[in-house]
Formats: sequence, structure tokens, C-alpha cells
Amino acid sequence: LVSRMRAFGTTIFAEMSALALRTGSINLGQGFPDTDGPAAMLEEAVRAIRSGANQYPPGPGVPELRQAVSEHRAARYGLDYAADGEVLVTVGATEAVAATILALCEPGDEVIAFEPYYDSYAASIALAQARLAAVTLRPVEGRFTFDPDELRAAVTPRTRAILVNSPHNPTGTVFTREELTVIAELCRERGLVAITDEVYEHLTFDGVEHVPLATLPGMRERTVMISSAGKTFSVTGWKTGWVCAPAELVRAVSTVKQFLTFTAGAPWQLAVAHGLRHESAWVEELRGGLQDKRDRLMEGLAAAGFEVLRPSGTYFVQTDIRPLGFTDGLELTRRLPELAGVVAIPTQVFYDHPERGRHFVRFAFCKKEAVIDEAVARLKRLS
Ligand code: PMP
Ligand code: GLN
Repeated sequence: LVSRMRAFGTTIFAEMSALALRTGSINLGQGFPDTDGPAAMLEEAVRAIRSGANQYPPGPGVPELRQAVSEHRAARYGLDYAADGEVLVTVGATEAVAATILALCEPGDEVIAFEPYYDSYAASIALAQARLAAVTLRPVEGRFTFDPDELRAAVTPRTRAILVNSPHNPTGTVFTREELTVIAELCRERGLVAITDEVYEHLTFDGVEHVPLATLPGMRERTVMISSAGKTFSVTGWKTGWVCAPAELVRAVSTVKQFLTFTAGAPWQLAVAHGLRHESAWVEELRGGLQDKRDRLMEGLAAAGFEVLRPSGTYFVQTDIRPLGFTDGLELTRRLPELAGVVAIPTQVFYDHPERGRHFVRFAFCKKEAVIDEAVARLKRLS
């Protein structure tokens, strides 16, 4: 294994899901729902296979999906991206992020990301032989946010891009327009590209609205906007994502994407096109259901003795484990199956400064009510 990848080992999601299987624990670690996506969309995938959509689709993605993405961005956010040239279908958001970084960063360039950050960012940046500069999100009155001065100080002459994940995994923060304005100003002043990971764009709660960074003044032209179907339609195994950006940026990303995977699976693309066109009511219901599950899990975790931080989006709730007498989340999550028969994710693995997240543990609430209730009942054994 090349030296720049040696630090990465096995992802925490693989480690913790394997631990759940091995111990028969309830898995509130890896974020995947335990219910299916919209039935008509699943049928579309079957129909696509039966009708012969089983050979390589075009590299940029099937036209139906590119068109559906384009129309969806326009209708929802007022953002215009040409289906032909400004939309690129990828193998999930993961490939979109990797291809974008590999396309834009020279060795030695720097990419700013907010820590705790989704684990693939650091690996993609390392593959490009670039450097990740982490700006820390810290809880202020229970909500994770950043210090604008710290963000400004992180920019150097080598900074190429800022990776902005909102709604944010793992903290559940949905960046406000004010926070995004600080980021946008910096991008414009310092000539940075913004890479936005918006895979949880539809999963926000309490009336909090997701604002795409590309909608801010002067940002469409410098933003690579990334999303994916996995979370929106509860099909994380379909690995169908997309990039929206000005043609020149999409061309750069496409050049790399061609040689990572060439193209993405055909049946899923046709089915996701259906989802974007016809399933907004289903997604709205998903969002409402998830908010109830969030409340249920938050209440349960609080009753079990955790300090609970309220997320405004995503699948995840952060907890502080110190009130239970624990100090190290990695140690606790590795023992949690034996202590309580539950698996969770130690947030510290998403930091460049793990000590800043040592006492946080992430729980997923994208699970059936009965599963959440059973997990909570078990976690009450901790106190
Ligand atoms: N970004 C974030 C913030 C995520 O939580 C995930 C996990 N779903 C991904 C990207 C990966 O998305 P996909 O499965 O579409 O590659
Ligand atoms: N995005 C999911 C999470 O954060 C899992 C992704 C993965 O397994 N790589 O839990």
C-alpha cells in the first residue's frame, strides 16, 4: 500500500457494522435506513432491467437522469444547470467528491474541510497528494458551528478549495445563510472553488431550510454541487450521485471520472430519474418520519444518561458521553456491544484533532421505531 494511504486502514463504518453482525448488536452506527425507498421507484429499477437497460450507459449519465437533476435543481433552488454539459452522474457522492478533488488539486494544494468530516474526504485528498486543512466545528449552545476567524486563518496561498457538507454529517448542523455567506465571501476574495456535499439536502427538521451554497451571489460559477439518491430515497445501496457545476468544472471532473468508473449503473439511473420527478411527496413524508425518529432517539438517549445535541438535519444525533462517566468514545463504542448490545460511531475518528471529539459518540436514527426503542432500552443499562 502506498505510504499516503497507510493511515487509512479499514473505515469505521465497515469496522462497526462488522462488530454489530458479529455480536448481534443493534446497529445505530453506519447510516443506512432499515426501510425501503418509494415502491414505484423500486419498480422502475426492475422495469429498467427487464426492458434491457443493462449495458454501459453514456459516460456522463443517462439523459433522463441528467434532465431530471437539471429540472429538480431549477424547481427547488432556482439553479440552472444544463442537462447536457453541466450535470455529471457519478457512482454515489463518494465518487463525485473523489473525482472533483483529483480533478482540481495539484500535489501540495490544500483543501479546507470542517471537522468532524465525512471520512472519504481525507482519503480523496490524500490520493490527490493534497493536504486537508481542518476547521473545527464546536458546539455553541448545543449546535455545532465554526469561528469565522479560524476559517479565514486556514486559507493559505496553496488553498484550492473548501469542502462544505451541509446538512453536516456527523454533527447534524445545517449551515445558516449567515454561515454560508462567510464561506462565500472567502471563496470569492481568495479565488477558491467550493465543493458542496449536499447528500442530506432533503433531510432537515423543525422547518430549517437547506440553502445550497451555489445560490449565494457569485457562487454558482465557482461551486461544484454534489448530491446523491441514497439518502433522499432510502436507497444507499444504489450508489447513484451527481455533480452540478459550470461546464468547465464538469469537464474537469468528467475527465477523471471516466477513468475511475467510466459510468454508473444504468437501471438505478433510470429509477432515480423517476424518483426526482415523481416522489417529492414520498420524500416529504420521509423527512417528517425522520424528525419523529430523531425526537424519539434523542429523548431515549437523554433518559439513558447521555447529553444529547439536537441535529437540524441528517440521520444522526451527537451525544456527549461524559455524564455517564465515560471519556473516550472510541473505547466506549468498541465495548458498547458487550455493555449494551448496541453499535454506534465514535465521532473522534472524523477529526484531525481527535482530542476535540473524544467525548462524542454518533447514533443513527434512520431506523424503525421498535429498533430505536429496543436500542434505548439496552442503553439504559449503562447508567
Ligand atoms: N457524503 C456524506 C456526508 C455522507 O454521509 C455519505 C454517506 N452516505 C456520502 C457522502 C456518500 O454518499 P454515496 O453513498 O452517495 O456515495
Ligand atoms: N454515510 C454513512 C454514514 O455516515 C455511511 C457511509 C459508509 O458506510 N461509507 O454512516
